[in-house]
Amino acid sequence: MQLPSLSMAASPVFVTAILGALSCSPAAAQGIDYSRLEIETTALGGGVYLLGWQGGDSLILVGDDGVLLVDTSVAAMGDKIKAAIAKVSDKPIKMIINTHAHADHFGANEALAKDGATIVAHAALRDRMAKGFTAFNQAIPPAPAGALPTVTFGDAMTLHFAGETIQLFHPPNAHTDSDTLVHFVRANVIHASGTIGGDGGYPFFDIGSGGSLAGTIVAEDKMLALSDANTRIVPDEGDPASTAMLKATRDMLVALRARVQKLIDEGKSEDEAVAAKPTKDFDAQFVHPGNFLTGDAMTRLAYQSLKTARPPAAP
Ligand SMILES: [Zn+2]
Repeated sequence: MQLPSLSMAASPVFVTAILGALSCSPAAAQGIDYSRLEIETTALGGGVYLLGWQGGDSLILVGDDGVLLVDTSVAAMGDKIKAAIAKVSDKPIKMIINTHAHADHFGANEALAKDGATIVAHAALRDRMAKGFTAFNQAIPPAPAGALPTVTFGDAMTLHFAGETIQLFHPPNAHTDSDTLVHFVRANVIHASGTIGGDGGYPFFDIGSGGSLAGTIVAEDKMLALSDANTRIVPDEGDPASTAMLKATRDMLVALRARVQKLIDEGKSEDEAVAAKPTKDFDAQFVHPGNFLTGDAMTRLAYQSLKTARPPAAP
């Protein structure tokens, strides 16, 4: 399902806001000196490691014969991802999963897959990469053949790798229109594909890339259904979230949706909705220094999404 594209640039708030953003935004490609970034590797148990930097954080699953990699980062970080993997395993990358159509999640595909890795992604991501697309007013050219996913899926798929079961689920129109939630069953780890905020901040749904508020709630409900009290949920940036943090985010989004929908039903304009401060009791918890998603920005996102987006079907 392709949603109508909304130009965030039409909203002055987002012009400023997005320039200040780090993760899954133009700044991820334009405002960062990648040569200065270091990758921090954290063992999450069960052979799964978090490779954290300042953007689309990666996960690896290390087996006796090879490595499975979730998200390859931007092209400029490819060598550093490779070096970080080499510190944990001397085996080749055999499988890559790209979670969604933001360049900090697939940018180093060609370099990291060239020794023969299978690249798995949702069909919509391959489609976008093959044709080229625009995200955050930034043109992403068609990807070379060696960067394209070689295996695609629609709603769900299960992989078996190094004794681990990896469940892939596509929540429609969530962070983008091409998201894959990656569930490592044994390790009890989920990669959220950008559907939760870093360090418990407001989550971002990229309306211009087919994301939506309603779809993000569906994605979070799906992850809650997969989780127990000890599950780690990996955002784009920052430490893994707890199930309690995911639940708090989901409950906030449900409340925010109801509040903003009420303002829309009352005929309020976007500016009037912002002035009503529907996020005010959430901001202390969900607005973090450096995160472009202030309460007002979140209200604009919610308003624009509810005004234009059709509710997605459950996955
Ligand atoms: Zn993203």
